Amino acid sequence: MKNAQPAFSIWRTLLRDPFDGWCAAPDPICTTPSNASELHVTTSTRRPEGPFRIGRSETGLGLFATDVIEKGTFIIEYVGPRITSEEVQRRRNTRYLFEINSRWTIDGSPRWNTARYINHSCRPNAQATVSRGRIRIRAIKRIKPGDEITYNYGKNYFETFIKPVGCKCRSCERKRAKQAGLGG
Ligand SMILES: [Zn+2]
Repeated sequence: MKNAQPAFSIWRTLLRDPFDGWCAAPDPICTTPSNASELHVTTSTRRPEGPFRIGRSETGLGLFATDVIEKGTFIIEYVGPRITSEEVQRRRNTRYLFEINSRWTIDGSPRWNTARYINHSCRPNAQATVSRGRIRIRAIKRIKPGDEITYNYGKNYFETFIKPVGCKCRSCERKRAKQAGLGG
């Protein structure tokens, strides 16, 4: 079979997310080789965006501090294409959707949205706040190097995605371990 877009398939290969399938970068980026090239460089070399790195966590991948992050410090912005509320209704995978107001939602699924690697915790050390249509994540505690950065995903997300399988955040794991210890 003839491949009409050889370059495109190469970019797709470069952009492939080894952890959850294809990169969900929006089409304008993936179909433009020059942009794709730039994107590939920035994602593959992982030029640090801040004092953190993506690493293995207990639930898959997570974002870990590489330096001290003082309480109140801005860590990272949650970024991605903006979609309308109507578009949200049509999507099946809503795991990375972050509502900014009644009209707009940010689709944070692209791999270049490093903030999407931040896991949920019931006792988090960071917090996401929305202002002027942007989602910013800040430290609410002093975060030490090596600590996993977490924020509370909120009630809706928790009820939909976490509760059915059981929360695996450190705080809940500790609670469970304690209960198991007392019980036996
Ligand atoms: Zn939890």
